[in-house]
Amino acid sequence: YADIAMYHAKRLGGNNYFFYSTELQTITARTLKLEKDIRFAIDNQQLDIYYQPQVSLITGKISGLEALLRWNHPDFGMISPLEFIPIAENSGQILRIGGWVTRTATLQLKKWQATGIDPIKLSINLSVRELKQSQLVEKLENILTETGFEPGLLELEITESMLMEDQENIINTLNRINSLGVHLSIDDFGTGYSSLAYVKRLPVNQLKIDKSFVQDIMNDPGDAIIAQAIISLGHSLGMEVIAEGVEDTAQLDFLRSHGCDHIQGYLFSKPLPAGDIWKLLSDSETNKLTLIYSS
Ligand code: C2E
Ligand code: MG
Ligand code: MG
Ligand code: MG
Repeated sequence: YADIAMYHAKRLGGNNYFFYSTELQTITARTLKLEKDIRFAIDNQQLDIYYQPQVSLITGKISGLEALLRWNHPDFGMISPLEFIPIAENSGQILRIGGWVTRTATLQLKKWQATGIDPIKLSINLSVRELKQSQLVEKLENILTETGFEPGLLELEITESMLMEDQENIINTLNRINSLGVHLSIDDFGTGYSSLAYVKRLPVNQLKIDKSFVQDIMNDPGDAIIAQAIISLGHSLGMEVIAEGVEDTAQLDFLRSHGCDHIQGYLFSKPLPAGDIWKLLSDSETNKLTLIYSS
């Protein structure tokens, strides 16, 4: 990898050589290795899906699960999706990985349903490259047919930034997803630049308040106002609103008193491996939000 860093350094010209500190050299080598290794991650059983509960503030019960991808790399250990998703996006591997996540998670929820657990929603993150692929809707349709998963229980999370270019095509794709009966949620809402007029045109069912606003909701009046504004915007457009990154009861109480519909965050549960989620779902005592107050 020192050779690779040297090659890039030379390509950039002698004056840039000082940029190749030891740290950057490691990052470059690591990125190249991850880009190569991710091609085999599915077949080598290195990918795993963790699930994080979403809780209804009306019933106090788990209303859904967000699938969050994990990569257990043989040399580097657990790698955050924040690091490897962009790499998979660049190389195009995200198309295969995204299909694997959707198929695996829908099958998992079907298995849980078969053990008598109440049907709940499944949220899956979509990346920009997946949203732009021409086959997306057909692939989704195939997975739903193969797995028998109820389309109305599937929700795809997209972000505002993904909606910016190529708006007519994106709206067309979102409308076709909506026609399948699959729901759409805008993740990290409030951090992008989408106009209200644009959001109004989209067949979106839910806004997800970004965790950066939730984090300081009790101390930063600006963040509190933004969270309240998102809740009332969502509701006036006929959408539900969920808050992510809820870590304490003060944040929960604020969101509940302002009419937020659902919460997700470490306060209730971290993302957990399938086995632990199944225990949580099958234990009707612990799967309630009331647990938060009694603990
Ligand atoms: P996201 O979709 O916004 O997911 C929320 C992130 O916040 C997750 O990080 C979750 O573990 C974390 N989180 C949950 N509760 C709390 C909390 O109370 N406090 C704090 N500080 N954080 C909390 P994670 O799992 O590392 O995922 C990071 C991002 O990677 C996700 O952000 C999503 O954009 C992306 N991602 C994860 N899985 C997939 C996938 O299957 N496909 C695609 N395309 N992207 C994925
Ligand atoms: Mg998400
Ligand atoms: Mg988010
Ligand atoms: Mg995010």
